Amino acid sequence: RRYSSTAEHIVSSAVPDIPLPTGNVATYILETTKRWPTKTALECAVSGRKYTYGQVVDAVARWGGYLATLGMQKGDRLAIMMLNCPEYMLVMLGAMSVGISVTVINSSYTAGEVCQQLQDSDTSLLVHDDVTEKVVEAALTLLKKPLRRVTNTDTSPPAGVPNLRSLLQDSSLHLADPIEMSGTETAFLPYSSGTTGKPKGVDVSHNALCSNTEIFIHPNFLASKFPTESHHDTFLCYLPLFHVYGIVPIMMVGLHIGVKVVTVPKFDIKAFVPLIVKHKVTMVHTVPPVLNFMTQSPDVNPESMKSVRALLCGAAPVPQPSVKIIKEKTDKSLFFQEGYGMTEVLITHTTPCGSSNASLCCLPNVKCKVIDVETGKSLPANEKGEICLKSPSVMTGYLNNEAATRATIDEDGWVHSGDIGYYDDNESFNIVDRIKELIKVKAMQVAPSELEEVILQHPKVKEVGVTGVPHDRFGEAPRAYVVTSSPTSEKEIHEFLASHVASHKQLAGGVIFVSELPKTASGKILRRKLREL
Ligand code: AMP
Repeated sequence: RRYSSTAEHIVSSAVPDIPLPTGNVATYILETTKRWPTKTALECAVSGRKYTYGQVVDAVARWGGYLATLGMQKGDRLAIMMLNCPEYMLVMLGAMSVGISVTVINSSYTAGEVCQQLQDSDTSLLVHDDVTEKVVEAALTLLKKPLRRVTNTDTSPPAGVPNLRSLLQDSSLHLADPIEMSGTETAFLPYSSGTTGKPKGVDVSHNALCSNTEIFIHPNFLASKFPTESHHDTFLCYLPLFHVYGIVPIMMVGLHIGVKVVTVPKFDIKAFVPLIVKHKVTMVHTVPPVLNFMTQSPDVNPESMKSVRALLCGAAPVPQPSVKIIKEKTDKSLFFQEGYGMTEVLITHTTPCGSSNASLCCLPNVKCKVIDVETGKSLPANEKGEICLKSPSVMTGYLNNEAATRATIDEDGWVHSGDIGYYDDNESFNIVDRIKELIKVKAMQVAPSELEEVILQHPKVKEVGVTGVPHDRFGEAPRAYVVTSSPTSEKEIHEFLASHVASHKQLAGGVIFVSELPKTASGKILRRKLREL
């Protein structure tokens, strides 16, 4: 499937390549903070708990110092399983500053899913909160080996478990200086199924995070302003911090450019617009299901949106009619920006400032080509094929999975995205389809092979194939085609799955019983045919 590139038809950014920062990402993100030490950096939308930029710098150094006192060292790994909160980034940047890499766990995961990620990532410390505590405890029982943990809580922590917020304020703790590094070291380990198979750890280096932040804030693409005496931009961070969308364009970009980031633990549709109004949010980050809600909500109007200068939407296909409706419902000067990227490459395309339609253009230092899926030849403008990407933010590879890395990054360094699209005569891209197995439910990843493995454990299931179907509210939903060995019901399959995987992975697309599955001669499920069903 992998072909070498020809030099033709490679689209670069309209902006010439820019110099890129390297080294410790925590140093890079926080280097600007001395310009605005007293401005609020992070605030919890529910409790009002706040940290100024000066306090962020201290807390990051203190957490780094605490990890060192535990004997944790460069190369060790820490996991976070918390709802969005101000401390999320303090833990992340504090760990990264001393060379400890961070994996982020979906806060709605079941104990089995948590255990799997802890095991696979070889984590030595887990930070959780009150909401995730029970699942974490069940996961630790399954893990069958002791794991250090710290909890972020208002109440008293379980016996022997330190309280994160007390540690962050403990002046007796030594403040750690960020360590020097080349930046090729792993900083971040989110999980993604990529083009095929089950979720895998994606090794994202310090340099990849620094570069992605830097190219995203290029003035041709950045819709936010640096703080001044009279003005302070505000972001609302309700999109989950266990996904790169929350981490890079919201948190890393926000903290580097001095924004006040208001964290929302749980997305609540009723509270969404009131929060925008209350905090005078200047840039709203959305995913298509939220954009959809905004098109229908009477609360979204020029008055309630008057502080909002820009609205970003991405992580799943963006319906163009919704963009038009949003523009009509708000002030005409609102800048609508689409974003495209993937965990393995971070953000590669957005809409340039000043553009009146939601175009997707290459960010600086990004190169993109579209290849014919049969021949691998790169295609000219307006012809559809697989999107391939080169960027300074490409992952180092999948954790302990050389074969999957080689299947994704070809020998010339192109990442094969598994997305189908084309670029027009203005070198603006359109994503029109997906050839990879991935299903995006409410913009979150669901890997069909993971669900198939679980459903196959059901004693009455002989064979199963899972695929995505369009869904009104979620964008897509997983549907299972099941061949049974003895009679069972749809309800039984749903109940079985409910105890094994998180809510967004449930079969909202339904269960269909069939007598056989479409297969290749060698017995592999033909996913394309499954989709056609
Ligand atoms: P993730 O790794 O979870 O960020 O998922 C990446 C995938 O989400 C991409 O490969 C696309 O399939 C999809 N995606 C992200 N942004 C867009 C977009 N603007 N339009 C269409 N699909 C998108």
